[in-house]
Amino acid sequence: MSTYQYPGTSCRHLYVAPSRRLGRSLGVDLVPHKVCSFDCIYCQLGRTTELSVTRRPGPPVELLVLEVQEALARGPRPDFLTISGSGEPTLYEPLDELIAALGRVFRPLAVLTNGSMLRQREVRDALRGADVVLPSLDAADEDLFQHVNRPHPDLSLASLVEGLAAFRREFRGAIWLEITMLGGVTAIPAQAVRLAELASEVGPDRIHLNTVVRPPAEASALPAPGNDLEVLSSLFQPAAEVIGEAQIPKHIETVAVSAGAMMSILRRRPCTVGDLATALNAPSPAVIKTLQTLLRRRAVRVRVCDRQVFYSVDEGVSV
Ligand code: SF4
Repeated sequence: MSTYQYPGTSCRHLYVAPSRRLGRSLGVDLVPHKVCSFDCIYCQLGRTTELSVTRRPGPPVELLVLEVQEALARGPRPDFLTISGSGEPTLYEPLDELIAALGRVFRPLAVLTNGSMLRQREVRDALRGADVVLPSLDAADEDLFQHVNRPHPDLSLASLVEGLAAFRREFRGAIWLEITMLGGVTAIPAQAVRLAELASEVGPDRIHLNTVVRPPAEASALPAPGNDLEVLSSLFQPAAEVIGEAQIPKHIETVAVSAGAMMSILRRRPCTVGDLATALNAPSPAVIKTLQTLLRRRAVRVRVCDRQVFYSVDEGVSV
């Protein structure tokens, strides 16, 4: 678990994320890096270090609520309070108590999940306290599910879809289904048609098409070429939305471009200068200046992916 402190506070489990779907999101990090029920080949957090479907206690609810209250009091108002993490957040317990408590502090409350734990009634019941749940569905047959998501042995595509459909029947809030399509693998018409059929069985309110936009866990995970996602989006019902880069309204107050704030973001995902400028609501020259300092200290490293330069931080590195 990161020990980063949210700027100007004592909050150790929060971060500001430049979310392409949620605008400016105040994230609550629930699980240690990188405990997950999947080991997706496209994961921007790197390979899963603990592949697990065992739910376990995390930071105390009271502590997380206090941190959120402090961050909200001192920082700019986010568009969403988002339960996520450096892995699969529904592995956290007690999720029901946490969602109920956070919902009393701030709304809208979103939960990012790979959806694999929705097969469990207690997880579905816990998530009913959220406003928006954003699960994933990346493959339409078992072989591709195993190839793309590399799930825990207890999981199957059938159990994932059954869990998603059961949750849809029970949940009154919004479900935004994310489909990450990979070039040459799932971002092709035949697979898109089958994914659209499965998505219809689930019945989400919105469908978001994504692809590899940051350095993936495996070099074999390629982005969908050209405007293929735009073309494939019309095959879905409701018509899928292709996720653009994060757009944060300019009027939002500025988070100081401190090395700590930048490191907090880079620990969770590799970013371009543009990503950092958006997340921190700062001009690019200010971002570059701080990056140069961090590069001189060897606190960040540079990677090139799909002709873009990304900056990232290795586990355990601090400034
Ligand atoms: S992309 Fe999400 S579900 Fe897949 S391995 Fe990474 S954290 Fe887990």
